[in-house]
Amino acid sequence: MKKIGIVGAGLVGSLQAILMARKGYKVEVFERRPDLREVEMIGGRSINLALSDRGWKALELAGVDQKIREIALPMFQRCMHDKQGNLSYQPYGVNNESIFSVSRGRLNQILMNEAKHYDNVDYHFNLKTKDVDLRDNTLVMQNLDKDIITYEFDKLFACDGAFSAVRSRLQRSAQFNYAQQYLTHGYKELEIPANLDGTHRLQNDCLHIWPRGEFMMIALPNLNGSFTCTLFFPMQGKLSFDSLNTAEKLMVFFQDYFPDTIELIPDLKADFFDNPVGSLVTVKCDPWQVNDDVLLMGDAAHAIVPFYGQGMNAGFEDCTVFSKMYEQANGNWEGLMKSFSDTRFKDGHAIADLALYNYIEMRDKTADPDFLLRKKIEAKFTRLHPDKWMPLYSLVTFSHTPYHEALANGLKQRALMDEVMKDPTIHDNWDDEVTMTKILRLLEKEKNHV
Ligand SMILES: Cc1cc2nc3c(=O)[nH]c(=O)nc-3n(C[C@H](O)[C@H](O)[C@H](O)COP(=O)(O)OP(=O)(O)OC[C@H]3O[C@@H](n4cnc5c(N)ncnc54)[C@H](O)[C@@H]3O)c2cc1C
Repeated sequence: MKKIGIVGAGLVGSLQAILMARKGYKVEVFERRPDLREVEMIGGRSINLALSDRGWKALELAGVDQKIREIALPMFQRCMHDKQGNLSYQPYGVNNESIFSVSRGRLNQILMNEAKHYDNVDYHFNLKTKDVDLRDNTLVMQNLDKDIITYEFDKLFACDGAFSAVRSRLQRSAQFNYAQQYLTHGYKELEIPANLDGTHRLQNDCLHIWPRGEFMMIALPNLNGSFTCTLFFPMQGKLSFDSLNTAEKLMVFFQDYFPDTIELIPDLKADFFDNPVGSLVTVKCDPWQVNDDVLLMGDAAHAIVPFYGQGMNAGFEDCTVFSKMYEQANGNWEGLMKSFSDTRFKDGHAIADLALYNYIEMRDKTADPDFLLRKKIEAKFTRLHPDKWMPLYSLVTFSHTPYHEALANGLKQRALMDEVMKDPTIHDNWDDEVTMTKILRLLEKEKNHV
């Protein structure tokens, strides 16, 4: 029987461990950190993620979706906060669909506990992968005493995140393409605690956004009544994490840009100065496999910026796609990792591009009347002609259409909507029949053109 190694007991590594165990393999998971289930109990900030349809599909496949539903809070719309504290809403779906806020720590714990239910899965903590010997399929690791531990595998899944050690090894092999790009913005987490009675201080079925052009803040609800806010902000410059270096400057800044949050975040100063600044990186590489024995998955294969809420979802979808291909091959491993990489890498690249585009959309355009009108027109057209139009956001978030197809479709839709928005009277007559007819005509023209 094949020995399967997994590097990284994060979200993707733990899910892949379950799926491989269900296929009957002996699975060893190697994680550089201590067991999250023990550390989390001691404390730590609650960080949440938006889980959507692609993620749910993988969780269903692994049989853990019901357990995750118990800790998931649905968010049906974006709630935008302007500087005056006025609120406006934008539904995520056209059919009342929602994305879900889940605690990253709890999700990871549940996945690990589920994986541990299988006798054929073993977790090894505090073992940092240093290298992989690709000639004899050996993983080279170091424990806390700095001893070198090795493990011989038949197949290895590298799920060791955006700064993957396994990928570093692949970067030194021939014909491996690699590109990495940092955003000039970073992020910091702040907390809106619950009311004394445990209720949320803001509407809890929304993802809240404070779009401010060059930067923005978002907040996702937690089960305990709190919200985790994330401030996405330039690293350096006149208004930046670098420049907000005193409590006084911080408070002036919040008073100017996020006045309605000052009361909501009582520990603003402590949160801001104690919590770390995270950086945001995009990694594109290919192929994702080497020798058909080692495969990169999740962030190790495609680290993306978080603005589409798709990083984890894309990683989970990697697991679904791999499992499906394994079943189609009737469990024959020959050429499997290569086929997976060949079909899937373009989806990794596409979601990376989409996520970068959505950054501009979230921080800048959610407050732009033209953009909001586009969304309204698209939503109306989708309701009237669901067979002819699915908005890009829905295609990415609420469908299983491959990301590269969603991106191509989105670009076509954008060009078509640019045409519609050229009408100088569009803000007055958008709701008229004539606008819908125009879209139909443009779609027909495009179809004939192809
Ligand atoms: C601010 C922010 C917000 C986000 N929001 C969302 C969201 O709303 N929705 C969404 O879908 N995604 C979101 N993401 C992306 C999401 O967090 C990642 O895509 C996801 O965590 C990837 O899972 P992974 O298992 O591939 O990697 P990770 O979660 O990074 O796990 C990698 C694991 O490998 C271990 N490891 C690393 N190096 C080694 C080594 N050398 N040896 C052994 N073990 C190692 C790590 O300790 C870790 O446990 C967000 C990301 C950020 C930064």
